[in-house]
Amino acid sequence: MSKRLGLLIDQERCIGCEACTVACRIENNNTAPWILVETQNTLQKDTPEGSFPELRMNFLPRLCNHCANPPCVDSCPRGALIKREDGPVVLDEGKCDGCQVCIGVCPYHVIHFNQDRNVIEKCHFCVHRIDQGLEPFCVVCCEGQAIYFGDLNDPKSEISKIIALRKAFQLKPEKGTNPSVYYSPPKPKRRL
Ligand code: SF4
Repeated sequence: MSKRLGLLIDQERCIGCEACTVACRIENNNTAPWILVETQNTLQKDTPEGSFPELRMNFLPRLCNHCANPPCVDSCPRGALIKREDGPVVLDEGKCDGCQVCIGVCPYHVIHFNQDRNVIEKCHFCVHRIDQGLEPFCVVCCEGQAIYFGDLNDPKSEISKIIALRKAFQLKPEKGTNPSVYYSPPKPKRRL
C-alpha cells in the first residue's frame, strides 16, 4: 500500500499561539498584512467552552485537509490542482488562471485568492520539504509540539497510533471528502 501522508493536531497541547501560522508565512514568503485572515494558509479558530468557573478555550488551527476525495481537484477546469500519490493536494501554478472555482467547492474554506499574482493559494504540506525527507515547517515550529505528521496508512506510525488512542476526528466527515488532517480532542477537565 502506498503512503498517505497526514497531519494530526493535538488540541490538548495546542495553546493557540499561532506559531504554525507564522511558520507558514515565513516558509511561503507570505508578506500580506497579518490582519487579512483570508490571505493565510493556516487559520486559527478559538472557541470558549463551558461556563464560569469551568471555562476553557478550544483551539482549532485549520488548513487544507488534503482530502482523499478532494472536490477542488475535480472542479478545476485546467487540471491545476493535483492529488499526489503520497497524499498532498498541490497546485501547479503555471496552469492556474485564477478562475477560483475551487474556492467555491472546498467545504473547509481554506483556499484563498492572491489578487496580485492571479492564482489561488493554500497549504501544500510543504512538499518541497517532504521531498527532502523533512517535515512541514509548521510541525517543526509548533511551540507546544502539538502537531504530528506521518503515514496514515502505516498502523505502526506515531500519528496512526495517536489517532487510534485518542479517538481523533476529522472535520465535516459528512462531506465524504475523507480529510488527511485529524484533531485529537482535549481530555475532560479534572475537577479540583
Ligand atoms: Fe481541496 Fe479544500 Fe479538501 Fe484542501 S480541504 S483538498 S482545498 S477540498
